[in-house]
Amino acid sequence: MTTINMLYDKDAELSIIQGMKVAVIGYGSQGHAHALNLRDTGVSVTVGLRAGSSSGAKAEKAGLAVAPVSEAVDGADLVMLLVPDELQAKVYYSEVEPNLKQGATLAFAHGFNIHFQCIEPRADLDVVMVAPKGPGHTVRSNYQQGGGVPALIAVHSDAGSRARDIALSYACAIGAGTAGIIETSFREEVETDLFGEQAVLCGGLAELILAGFETLVEAGYSPEMAYFECLHETKLIIDLIYEGGLANMNYSISNTAEYGGYLTGPKVIDAGVRERMREALGRIQRGEFAREFVQECESGQLVMKAIRRRQREHPVEQVGEHLRAMMPWIAQQRLVDRDVN
Ligand code: NAD
Ligand code: MG
Ligand code: MG
Repeated sequence: MTTINMLYDKDAELSIIQGMKVAVIGYGSQGHAHALNLRDTGVSVTVGLRAGSSSGAKAEKAGLAVAPVSEAVDGADLVMLLVPDELQAKVYYSEVEPNLKQGATLAFAHGFNIHFQCIEPRADLDVVMVAPKGPGHTVRSNYQQGGGVPALIAVHSDAGSRARDIALSYACAIGAGTAGIIETSFREEVETDLFGEQAVLCGGLAELILAGFETLVEAGYSPEMAYFECLHETKLIIDLIYEGGLANMNYSISNTAEYGGYLTGPKVIDAGVRERMREALGRIQRGEFAREFVQECESGQLVMKAIRRRQREHPVEQVGEHLRAMMPWIAQQRLVDRDVN
């Protein structure tokens, strides 16, 4: 096993980012978290949004300065581009680059557009990445609790010779220096991020939940039972794993559950799964996934919208809505409140 050099708050100079004017473009999942965490760390922030954006009111209500993208970029020392990946090239070429001052820093939270060359930034710019390894809502909530979410930093171009220090300073300002920061490359971040979200976190986990739920319901068990067993409890188990690894989970669960898991887990998640994971990684590395996603976006995201609609109608979502309404304490500390973030 190779070990990597982890960086923390003590390794960074927070004053670098505190001395810069930052424009955060977009106020979605990552945008609201970066803007608010930077502001609370004493950084001067303006949120750049398109005219008539519904996020503008949320940002203003949170006490942030809001401006059209071109105005937010004008005079900024660092621009963090946090609009959806599929819109970044359009926003960059039409509103960011023409207004961005010489020698400024252009920052990303994901390397997609740089690595797959959808954006080729002006040569005078520093181009960096600060990519939190967690959802934006958690980037905000962990910061508010005095912590943070781990992050990757990378430098694509270093025109001013301090790109790395700027990225590190920014990462600490959003809280990542409490959790750990890893220096990487745009390529490595993109390939591991796409793989993780597709095979394990978002795609893999969702399909595991659906497969378990459907198996129980098909066998005649009630959807409510299946919901608690296959969806609700994933959170309880993940909390144990997150806190202390697999051994921590196995310590807490019964011996029956532990033995059954050892026996059956590898039969369900078998060599075939690993083979298909390698295929998924290969598609990402060869740029095939990126080409497909860009095409899907150019043709109006029809596939994505259809699947989103179909999934909303799935019994696990229907029964889940009903059961969660009976557990109002879940909503009391919600990470996602669509009226606010
Ligand atoms: P999002 O979809 O949640 O939010 C996008 C924001 O951009 C919205 O506020 C939207 O109003 C705004 N916007 C849309 N079009 C715009 C335009 N033309 N001009 C100005 N603003 C516009 O996006 P997100 O999920 O936060 O993703 C942003 C970046 O962060 C992406 O590069 C993504 O890969 C990366 N990232 C996201 C997460 C996450 O937790 N969602 C995690 C790590 C990295
Ligand atoms: Mg991602
Ligand atoms: Mg049990």
